[in-house]
Amino acid sequence: MSTAVYDAIVVGAGSVGMPTAMSLAERGVKVLVLDQFPSPGQGSNKCAIGGIRATHSQAAKIKLCLESIRVFSTWQETHSDELEWLRGGYVFVAYRDKEEALLKDLLKVQKSFGLNIEWYDAKELLKIAPALKPEGLRGGTFSPEDGSASPMRSCLAFYRRARELGVECRFGERVTGIIRRRGTVVGVRTDKGGYASETLVNAAGAWCRSLAQAGGLDVPVQPDSHEAGITEPVAPFLGPMVVDIRPTPGAHNYYFYQHKPGQVIFCITPDPPIVGTDRRETSTFLPMVARRMVDLMPRLANVKVRRTWRGLYPMTPDGSPILGRSATLNGYVHAVGMCGQGYMLGPGVGALLARLVTDSLEDGDSAILDELSPDRQLGTVEALK
Ligand SMILES: Cc1cc2nc3c(=O)[nH]c(=O)nc-3n(C[C@H](O)[C@H](O)[C@H](O)COP(=O)(O)OP(=O)(O)OC[C@H]3O[C@@H](n4cnc5c(N)ncnc54)[C@H](O)[C@@H]3O)c2cc1C
Repeated sequence: MSTAVYDAIVVGAGSVGMPTAMSLAERGVKVLVLDQFPSPGQGSNKCAIGGIRATHSQAAKIKLCLESIRVFSTWQETHSDELEWLRGGYVFVAYRDKEEALLKDLLKVQKSFGLNIEWYDAKELLKIAPALKPEGLRGGTFSPEDGSASPMRSCLAFYRRARELGVECRFGERVTGIIRRRGTVVGVRTDKGGYASETLVNAAGAWCRSLAQAGGLDVPVQPDSHEAGITEPVAPFLGPMVVDIRPTPGAHNYYFYQHKPGQVIFCITPDPPIVGTDRRETSTFLPMVARRMVDLMPRLANVKVRRTWRGLYPMTPDGSPILGRSATLNGYVHAVGMCGQGYMLGPGVGALLARLVTDSLEDGDSAILDELSPDRQLGTVEALK
């Protein structure tokens, strides 16, 4: 039997792989997507709470997320699928000197990139998020152009669009090996067979390292576990994503927002990180996060939690993605290490990689690729990763 041949193989039908396949196909590339799980978005994508912001402190992520926001915010108009996109903005709150100073410092960097973000004192911030506890509130930043959408709806919409454009997807099929000849990718081996291609995009998320190693490469991506939860839907009362960066024992920041259909969705960053691939939810997460949320926004005490879940962040040492061609294996493209921002980065990353693979980079693309290069010094940690 002859081996099927593709222009590009994308491993991973998740937050990054699905929009990458779609963008490649939009440029006329014949693509195969392979995923070990039974349907699109079953890795970390479905665990994301749906936050989408361009207000980072690193030029590359800002540019990629601006492109993503353009895709999310115009998708319904262009393709008619409802992604539950809501431009509610992001609020970072400050109740102490330390957070006020940090956020104001960061604001200078963010404004230097031209982002629409301002500092609001307590009185003004309470107009934006009236449910915040007023006692002790110093103020906070608000970026009105950020928003949220549904990760499952988005991944499914990108999948449908990719299929319409002729992308082939094979689910329940795990890539077990990368076939290379004289320093070039020539195909992959899976637990069900093999496929030929001279371009391979590793978009395997938390599982990307073993895939890279199957090609004789390595990539410093280490998964860690994060929990999240969702309430029953309630009448609209909260516009923006609220982020509280005050650390407490067991956790760094936590953040929550009211999704378009009314549910409050929330998440916490554990401290120290829980390294590994454990996706079983715990009984400690909900009491810890609920106490903090109710303290910050007392009316949340009346809202019932429906369920919690746990998923993986594919972390890099500096908190930024690893993107671009391998310097040692021709045809191999890294699209990994999305940390806690892979959902919001996905469409922007997909569009950039499609330009890279089809040799049609635009102004500014090389600067992004340099910043996120697989060969960079993975040293400095971004301020609000
Ligand atoms: C609780 C929580 C909340 C989050 N909230 C947000 C948020 O608000 N906003 C945001 O932007 N991000 C958020 N994230 C982070 C986001 O979910 C991830 O960064 C993102 O999903 C990673 O995308 P990915 O495409 O790299 O990986 P995934 O979406 O996991 O896709 C990788 C795919 O590769 C497949 N795969 C792996 N290895 C193989 C193989 N060998 N063969 C075949 N298939 C393979 C997997 O099955 C998987 O489907 C959150 C994460 C968690 C856990």
